[in-house]
Amino acid sequence: MTAIRPTVPFDTDGKHHGFLRLPHSRNDSAWGSVMIPITVIRNGVGPTALMTGANHGDEYEGPIALQALALEIAPEDIAGRVILVPYMNFPAFRVGTRLSPIDGGNLNRAFPGRADGTVTQKIAQYFNDVLVPMADLVLDYHSGGKTLDFLPFACAHYLDDPAQQAVCLAAARAFAAPYLLMLREIDSVGMYDTAVEAQGKVFVTTELGGGGTATARSARIARRGARNLLIHAGILAGTPEPADSTFLDMPGDDCYHLAPADGMVEPMTDLGEAVAAGTPLARIWPVDRTGHAPLTCTAQRYGLLAARHFPGLIQTGDCLAVIATPGGE
Ligand code: CA
Repeated sequence: MTAIRPTVPFDTDGKHHGFLRLPHSRNDSAWGSVMIPITVIRNGVGPTALMTGANHGDEYEGPIALQALALEIAPEDIAGRVILVPYMNFPAFRVGTRLSPIDGGNLNRAFPGRADGTVTQKIAQYFNDVLVPMADLVLDYHSGGKTLDFLPFACAHYLDDPAQQAVCLAAARAFAAPYLLMLREIDSVGMYDTAVEAQGKVFVTTELGGGGTATARSARIARRGARNLLIHAGILAGTPEPADSTFLDMPGDDCYHLAPADGMVEPMTDLGEAVAAGTPLARIWPVDRTGHAPLTCTAQRYGLLAARHFPGLIQTGDCLAVIATPGGE
C-alpha cells in the first residue's frame, strides 16, 4: 500500500514529465493533492538511476541540476532509466524551509516512512518501498540550507559491507566535486541515506554549499556531477568532465563542534582553511550586554574547516563548525 500515485509510467521508453500525486485533504482544498514533479527517462534495458533534490526544502544545487537534466537529456542519450525528482520534499521546497510546513516533518529523518502517516512520512514510504527498489544508483543532493555552509563535496559513508562501501566511494569520486568525503553520520536514524544503503544500493550524497542559496560555482559543480555520475553508471553516453578532488575523512565525533553558548558569531576561520588542534574557530559574543568577553571556540583536532554555522546568531548546542581531515584515503 502507498498513498502516492504516479502520473508517469516507469516502464515505457521515452521521456515523461508528470507528478507523484499525494492526496492531501485540508482546509483550503477538501480533495486536494501534493503534486511532486517527476521526470522519468527510459531507453531499453539498463541500470536505473534515482536522483533527488530538496530532501530539505531550502537547498538549491540539486533542484537546479535535476531541472536541467530533465530538460536536456533525451531518451536516445541513455541506456536504462533515469528517475528525476528535483523537489523531493515539495511542500518544504515551495516555502523555502528545511522542514515541511504541513506537518513539521524532516523528510531525511522520516525513513522508512508510513503509508498511513503524515504527508512527510507518506513521501518517505513511497521512496523507500517503490522508487528505491527500482534503482541501482541513488544520488541525493544536499547543501547546507539556511543554517549551514559547506565546502563542496560528494560523500560516501562508512558501511559494514566493504564491497558496498567501495562502489559507493567510486561513485562519489566519479561525481568529481572539489572535495570527496568519507563520512560517519552524526544522526543516522531515519535518514534516506541509511534506508537506501540498507537496500544494498550504490548511494552518493553531497553537500555543495549553503546559506539557503546556490552560487554560480556550486550550480556548475552540481550539474557536472550529475552527468559524470550517469556516465560512470553506464547510463549516459559521453565523456566525464574530470576535476581534481581533495580527499577528506571525518573519522569521529570530535569533527563536530557544538556551540557552548547562545550568542553572536565572530568567525575566526573560514571554510577550507587549515587548522591545528587549539586553533580558534570563532568567538561567541553576548547578545544582551556590552563589557563582557566573548567565548572563544577552538578546534578539537587538526584538519580543514569543512562546514560552519551560517547565520550570525547561534544557540547553545547548534553545530558551529565541522573539521575534516585531508588525505588518508
Ligand atoms: Ca541537507
